[in-house]
Amino acid sequence: MKLRYYPYTLQLKNQFTISSHSRNTTPAVIVEVEHIGLIGYGEASLPPYLVEEQSSVINFLKKISLDEFNDPFQINLILDYVNNIDTDNYAAKASVDIALHDLICKKNKIPLYQFLNIKRSENIFSSFTLGISDEASLKQKIEMASGYKFLKVKLGTKDDKKIISLIRTLTDKPLYIDVNQGWTDKYFALDMINWLAELNVVLIEQPLPKENLEDSIWLKEKSLLPVVADEAVKVIDDIENIANSFSGINVKLMKAGGIREAHRMILKAKSLNLKVMLGCMTETSCAITAASHLAALADWVDLDGAELISNDLFNGTKIINGRLLIPDLPGLGIEKIEEL
Ligand code: MG
Repeated sequence: MKLRYYPYTLQLKNQFTISSHSRNTTPAVIVEVEHIGLIGYGEASLPPYLVEEQSSVINFLKKISLDEFNDPFQINLILDYVNNIDTDNYAAKASVDIALHDLICKKNKIPLYQFLNIKRSENIFSSFTLGISDEASLKQKIEMASGYKFLKVKLGTKDDKKIISLIRTLTDKPLYIDVNQGWTDKYFALDMINWLAELNVVLIEQPLPKENLEDSIWLKEKSLLPVVADEAVKVIDDIENIANSFSGINVKLMKAGGIREAHRMILKAKSLNLKVMLGCMTETSCAITAASHLAALADWVDLDGAELISNDLFNGTKIINGRLLIPDLPGLGIEKIEEL
């Protein structure tokens, strides 16, 4: 098997702002694994708040030699080998994991969901994410998202109530709220949640700083809404540690280290009675489509990452009026649309 990779910069349609920063691009690395004329595609997406960057991903990928593996059916062996090359590097590991899953399912002529033993559902809805924006662009984005049933709103500013009040003059759709650790005081967080609970809000994601697990236990016990961990939970080994502090976890391929690990995280969370949100970074339709094959297992789905970029490299899972249209084709079911 041959491994190839190249850097790629995702251009965002609109500047994206969360409580900690703004950006117009997301660096990524695209991976290809070739075997007997078939190509499996993978991707590492690297938003700036993660420690990985294009150079670290490429340095990691350079250490991988797939020469000794001659069959993608050795996927578990190969992924164990890749995981053991170095600690961390989860997005880099995810890129190889995604490419291998694409390849093995193409070789097997089955869609990824079937390989994972997951039922295909045509009734999965993704939220559309509204970054922190001024009044005019908030209005514009809500119009852009007119087909979506759920909106995800980034908070963690000094104007949080103003933002929600404005949104409520424009739409009464159910909202997922993502604070990105932006509320530092638990009493303030509880007041906000009590206020939001009256306003058709479904859940609150990472209201407090990820280290504040004690405050998070207090908040979860008093909260009228489910409180979902994102920054506080990256990989499967983190789950037990935060299980008492949250009602659910946000699983992302780039945090988890790929499809195999994300799938394991979902099953582990469920075994601990935690709810599951399936999320993403800004990603091409490669990683988004990969994640979408897990979506039937999630309670909440937030896979709009490819909708936020203007230079998608792949055709894959589409979001039509908020509904995920997951390809019923071998592999991830993606097709490359542009040569680099
Ligand atoms: Mg989040």
